[in-house]
Amino acid sequence: MILSICDNLDILRILRIVKTAILLIKIVVPIILIVSCMIEVISIITSNDVEISGKLLKSWVRKVIAALLIFLIPTFINLLADLGSADTNEIAKCFQNSTNERIEELTIEQAKKYIVQAKESLSNPDYYVANRMVNKIKTDSVKNELTKELELISSYISMRNEIYELAKKYDSEKYKSLKAKLEAISDEKIRERLLKEFEENVKSRDIGWWWPVGSKQTTTLNGVTYAEGEPATTRITAYFGGNDAVHKGLGGGHGAIDIGAYRDNVIASKSGTVVYPGKNDRIDYPDQAIKPDENGKYNCAGLNGNYVKIDHGDGITTLYQHLYKNTITVRAGDHVEQGQVIGISGSSGCSSGPHLHFQMELNGTRIDPLNYVSSSNPRP
Ligand SMILES: [Zn+2]
Repeated sequence: MILSICDNLDILRILRIVKTAILLIKIVVPIILIVSCMIEVISIITSNDVEISGKLLKSWVRKVIAALLIFLIPTFINLLADLGSADTNEIAKCFQNSTNERIEELTIEQAKKYIVQAKESLSNPDYYVANRMVNKIKTDSVKNELTKELELISSYISMRNEIYELAKKYDSEKYKSLKAKLEAISDEKIRERLLKEFEENVKSRDIGWWWPVGSKQTTTLNGVTYAEGEPATTRITAYFGGNDAVHKGLGGGHGAIDIGAYRDNVIASKSGTVVYPGKNDRIDYPDQAIKPDENGKYNCAGLNGNYVKIDHGDGITTLYQHLYKNTITVRAGDHVEQGQVIGISGSSGCSSGPHLHFQMELNGTRIDPLNYVSSSNPRP
């Protein structure tokens, strides 16, 4: 058998089947013959009829000879064929290689199938199966290509997890960054699907600017207290740029609004990052009601009082002054949510009586807060 072995595996496969069939015949047929002889031998021994026994003896001898021939002839042919055939190790190797190739093809195919599945489900179990399949693939170029795709799927899965984490524990910074990340997904189908899940599960808490006095009732969510209901008060006692007696006495002008409030919850008008007070800043100034001197002048030097300043980005900051001692619950660097209670109103610092001084600045210049917040529409 002089064949280019690895190129003629189909012929080798047929020959293998034929060889196996011959092997079966040369074992099974003699066994049948020998068993039938044994049965006949037993019948000779148990029979007293000598004539019949003689016939049986002849048939028995014939069968044994036939069995020997059936066994020996194919064995002899096989032996001759093997002597002339190619190296059996080489044939085995060819078969092994062809099997490996088929397994590899199958694995790549399967891995691709799982990748599609993982992409459709965007769930971890499917992703892990796909990942395991890809790890098994030995063809580097295919592996790299599939690994890149898997990395993308993994990033989609983690974004999806972020959506549900955010639904459980809201954070406006994360809301903004996740939304931007989702909008930047290049796969249109995935982008639309994840944005839909995002819209359905996470609602932005950041709407318009809120009136800075909170409701009397509070709710606590993940350890953060909110007073985002109907404000306890919307009474304005001094307007921006006001020249009422007190502010005249202070030197004239007023770069903020004053809201008549007594021990009321003060809330962040919008989400942002606290810039004051720092860890070491005093928040225990006592309440006071400073009085004008005989000329109607107020001496406020050094009377800072307790206050909170929040940076909202885009150059806008808010400031909440005259808070009651030791009620400020946030510190510089803290992220605060819209409606979050940051302290209780009081009369600390340069204050003639209980009120909340609410100040807004744009790039360091004071602006009229009533262009942003509204007492008639306090929670837009
Ligand atoms: Zn004021």
